[in-house]
Amino acid sequence: MWLEMRGVERRFGKTVAVSGLDLTLPQGAIGCLLGPSGCGKTTALRCVAGFEPVDAGEIFARGRLLSSRGVTAPPASRNIGMVFQDYALFPHLTVLDNVAFGLHGQSRPARERRALDMLEIVGLLECRERYPHEISGGQQQRVALARALAPQPDLVLLDEPFSNLDIDLRGRLSLEVRGILKQVNATALLVTHDQNEAFAMADLVGVMQDGRLEQWDASYELYHRPATRFVADFIGQGAFLPGEVLSADAVSTELGVLAGDVPLQYRACDQIDLLLRPDDVLYDESSPLMLEIVQKAFRGADFLYTLALPSGATLLSLVPSHFNHGLGDRIGVRIELDHIVAFTRSG
Ligand code: ATP
Repeated sequence: MWLEMRGVERRFGKTVAVSGLDLTLPQGAIGCLLGPSGCGKTTALRCVAGFEPVDAGEIFARGRLLSSRGVTAPPASRNIGMVFQDYALFPHLTVLDNVAFGLHGQSRPARERRALDMLEIVGLLECRERYPHEISGGQQQRVALARALAPQPDLVLLDEPFSNLDIDLRGRLSLEVRGILKQVNATALLVTHDQNEAFAMADLVGVMQDGRLEQWDASYELYHRPATRFVADFIGQGAFLPGEVLSADAVSTELGVLAGDVPLQYRACDQIDLLLRPDDVLYDESSPLMLEIVQKAFRGADFLYTLALPSGATLLSLVPSHFNHGLGDRIGVRIELDHIVAFTRSG
């Protein structure tokens, strides 16, 4: 594995910022640590960069031990490129000189050639003679990326790289940056609290809570097969519906018997909470199941309707936007589940 973290722990006094963190990243993959404020994602990234020591566990890159208890290879020796939230470009250097800055031990023409190649990859060749304040925030972040990639690091770390940018630009830039990282076959680890960014950028996403990595998986799996209730709640939208397991492929709920593969750990009579995503609740005018709309949000291509159940619980349903209903209307829906995502009933 290109990057491997085994049982990494980092404490600050009584605060356990990172606890028992295991993850691996193959060469050329983009990983992302995602989670709410204070969950430990920045600390985990700083441990990989060598800015923080680890109190337990090990970090390896390309099989080389970088950190373990009492061992912290200096950041400069790790062959790691960093991209920060605030770009951290040198204001008195041109774009070209910023990118060439980290290329030690090469002749000036070789450094310049490499920096020009990198600027071409990030699409900023025409800005090479400008200073950072003469280009936009999105462009500055691409310069920072070019600078991080120029020395061909083993690993690129990106710490909330788009959080200073407006939301439209963020969406566009995250896809662009992914394209650039893939083009040069870089292995990267990103930290963000924005799941759209994580999904747009990463091959593997880890959801953290209270210093622990709850799941390290492809985005699709996090959404469709969340390993814990926290991940199910944190990723995407949805509602939990109480149910009782009837068999390996049926659950009894307020909405009737729902068919779908029940996770293996549950048996008949188990009380569960079933996760229903908005895309599991399909609009169907011919369905006998009619539910009242209590909230609606227009999203362009579709509406997100909040539907009330007789018990007072609510469901979310994603409906194509030509079915424009008013609050209080009752619409027909059909529940369609491939496999059931369930958790032991809480409370
Ligand atoms: P955010 O998204 O707000 O940056 P985060 O998920 O990156 O949060 P960390 O910054 O890693 O979280 O912090 C994890 C925990 O460790 C928090 O409780 C934080 O207060 C604590 N912590 C982080 N750095 C230090 C430090 N240098 N000294 C003391 N406590 C720290």
